[in-house]
Amino acid sequence: HFRMSSSPINCSRFEGKVAIVTAATQGIGFAIAERLAQEGAAVVISSRKEKNVQDAVSSLRKGGCKKVEGVVCHVGKEEDRQHLVQFTLSKFGRIDVLVNNHGINPIFGDILDVDEKMWDRLFETNVKNGWQMTKLVVPHMKKVGGGSIIFNASYGAYKVPSVGIAAYAITKTAMLGLVKGLAGSLAKDNIRVNGIAPGVIKTKMSSALWDNGDKSGEENIISNSEIMLGRLGVPEEIGGSVAFLASNDASYITGETIVIAGGVNCRL
Ligand code: NAP
Repeated sequence: HFRMSSSPINCSRFEGKVAIVTAATQGIGFAIAERLAQEGAAVVISSRKEKNVQDAVSSLRKGGCKKVEGVVCHVGKEEDRQHLVQFTLSKFGRIDVLVNNHGINPIFGDILDVDEKMWDRLFETNVKNGWQMTKLVVPHMKKVGGGSIIFNASYGAYKVPSVGIAAYAITKTAMLGLVKGLAGSLAKDNIRVNGIAPGVIKTKMSSALWDNGDKSGEENIISNSEIMLGRLGVPEEIGGSVAFLASNDASYITGETIVIAGGVNCRL
């Protein structure tokens, strides 16, 4: 009842374009990279661990995405961020698309119990590092006459709870503003900046929310969050939305964040 990753992609909106996707060796980032590559982009994927990068690159190439390269980039490390950009330019010569997919959620509990160091780390990774990546790619996008930048927020941005993942969700709310601020700044350079706000997507990161060994965890979250479509999402369903936002089909969309959450009611 939903498009599987094996169905053919019948468009090629990124021929001649080059994309960087952060935190892309598994989960949503991997699916975004795969989709952009399936549509003709040359893609550079990255994450912290060399082995994950190598495995993901070879899996994408085996799946037919030949113009894929990978490099280690811990988004929190300045030299890694710079290296990611330089590596991309050395392999493919230009940058058209940046997907700031990275985001961490290492804590679960009441908002007032969050350790201060952890609070700072959350904002550093989820908000600041994407802003820093953006600053690094903008000069190169200007050189090619424009570009598109996508941030991966979360439906939690619109639905901040007081317990559980509150601090994480607040970083994602901040990203809604970041998207708008950057969109305003970069419009003159023909660079569009948008966000996505996925619901619960079946990945390693979200598994703590739904994977308790049987189907009950999944059923609970579907009914508690009132997911209209009655199921969790899969990473490939995010790839398609990112490809749309990054492509010329979204040429009049900037500063927006699109909720991709199976009908969960969430707005600020
Ligand atoms: P995932 O499947 O657990 O994958 C996380 C990826 O991030 C891995 O490739 C990991 O590789 C990499 N990574 C982790 N820390 C990194 C860092 N500091 N620098 C660079 N790479 C890093 O996660 P996911 O669920 O796809 O989440 C991806 C994004 O989607 C996040 O921003 C998350 O907040 C957002 N999101 C997820 C959901 C969901 O339900 N899954 C919902 C809404 C939003 P290494 O270990 O090699 O670094």
